[in-house]
Formats: sequence, C-alpha cells, structure tokens
Amino acid sequence: MKIARFDGNRLGIVEGDTIHDVTELVGVDPGDWPPVGMIRLVSAFGRLRPAFEETRRSRPGRPLTSVRLECPIDWPNKIIAFPANYHEHVAEMGAGLVSTFTATGQGFFLKATSSLSGPSDPIVLPPIPGREIHHESELAIVIGKGGRAIAAEAALDHVFGYACLIDAVVRGKEERVMRKSFDTFCPLGPYIVTADEVTDPADIDIALRVNGTLRQQANTRDLIVGIADMVAMASAVMTLYPGDVIASGTPAGVGPMHPGDRVDIEIAGVGSMSLLVRLGEQGMHPVWNKPTG
Ligand code: MN
Repeated sequence: MKIARFDGNRLGIVEGDTIHDVTELVGVDPGDWPPVGMIRLVSAFGRLRPAFEETRRSRPGRPLTSVRLECPIDWPNKIIAFPANYHEHVAEMGAGLVSTFTATGQGFFLKATSSLSGPSDPIVLPPIPGREIHHESELAIVIGKGGRAIAAEAALDHVFGYACLIDAVVRGKEERVMRKSFDTFCPLGPYIVTADEVTDPADIDIALRVNGTLRQQANTRDLIVGIADMVAMASAVMTLYPGDVIASGTPAGVGPMHPGDRVDIEIAGVGSMSLLVRLGEQGMHPVWNKPTG
C-alpha cells in the first residue's frame, strides 16, 4: 500500500494514478498541530488496514494529479542517518575515511526533523558563498513498530515501509548536524510504500539525476550496514517510535546542486520525486565565514 499526506495534512492511499482520502478513517483533524496524523496512521495500521482496503474497493479515488502531495511524515520523533554506508562513496570522500569511519565503525547521526520537505517542495539553498551544497540520494526506512534493543533477526518486523529521501548537506568541517539541517534539506516521499510491497529490501535500485544527467546509481545490496543492522544499531542506543525515519546512507556520485537545477530521485518499487532547486534568502551566518580546509 502507498500512503501519502496531501492537501494540508490529509491522509490518503495512492493506487495507480488515483488517491483515496482516508483522513476520517484515521480519525485525524487536518487542522491539528503538531501534524502527527501519519504517525497515528502508522502506529494503528494493523487495525486500520481493513477499512483502507474496503475504501479502495468500494469508492472511486481522485486523480493523483489533482492533489498536492506533502512530505509523508511531517513530525517524526527523529531522523536517524547513516553516513559512509556504501564503499564507493567512502572512497570518493577521500583517503582519510578508512574502515573505522564507515557506518560499521562510526554509527549514525541525527538530522533535524524540521529539515523535512515533500515531493512538491523546492530544495532551498542557503546563500553561503564559496560552499558546495551536495545531494545524497538515500533509501528512507520508516519504522512501524517501535522498540529498544531490537535484534537484527527481528528488525524487518519493525519496518513499516520505505520512501525516497535526499540528504542535502553543506560541505565543510562544521558540525554535521548543522550542515545537514537547513529547512528543506531532507526531501521525503513521494509517499510511503509499505514493506509488504517491497520484495527484497536488500535488492533495490537507486538513481539520482541532476538536470537529466545521471549522478548516482546504486543498489541496496552494496550497503555496508544493511537495513536490519541499521535498525538494530539505532535501537541499541535509543527507543525507536512509529514513524521514525532512517536515512540509509548515500552511494557514490554526490555532487553540488545549484539554483535552477532539477533533481530527480528514483527508487525502484518505491517511487520517484522531481524537485526544483532554488536560492533562498536565509541561512547566512558568520559561522560559515572561514576557509573550508
Ligand atoms: Mn547521507
């Protein structure tokens, strides 16, 4: 099942080129703040699913093109992100990255949840002189059943689904969280595909293009820390909650984005997003005024 958020915090099931509104079935008021309707849906999905199936069977959907898709999860408890999780990307980041600096030895970091944006939103670049701002194409893992100290053998039972994610970053030496947490630096979507629709999460093709030119191409079989082990490692440290997002790390081919670019991310069996890049007015601060080394 493909689950979307749209038109001002409404919840929907996407089927082909139509969408079924299930906001009322979930019992969510789109005007509520904070916007945690999708997290409620994820945590109650087992109970809600029969009603979703019935709606899908018995009612006509609306054309998907008639709605504006939004970031599927706007207010997760956390975004966990794995750095250096594909060998070829580790190599391209330089000789200083030896094996202890891959995700195997380095673990993960957090990205601000307020950096999330959706499939209809632009990526807004802060006007920082002399810095490159890179795209990282990543498979997003959405947690369904929370927990602590989840064993790798049981980890896939805790995965609700998958989505496309771009982990945008200002290259430099400052704290990673700051460089990766500008507003719109975490496009997620276009919807969540539930795990039962993904035949083998360890065999998913990922591609990212900038203005039609292929920049990144990989398969999740080349992940250094696999999906189950990411869930195990994260939950060894922190309790995972329904709706938590794990960014699984980027393959080789990261590169700069410029105002006016179109960035297309495509993950086989999961979906695609086509995002415009524009220059923003906010984000400059003296902290960026130094040589990048
Ligand atoms: Mn990344």
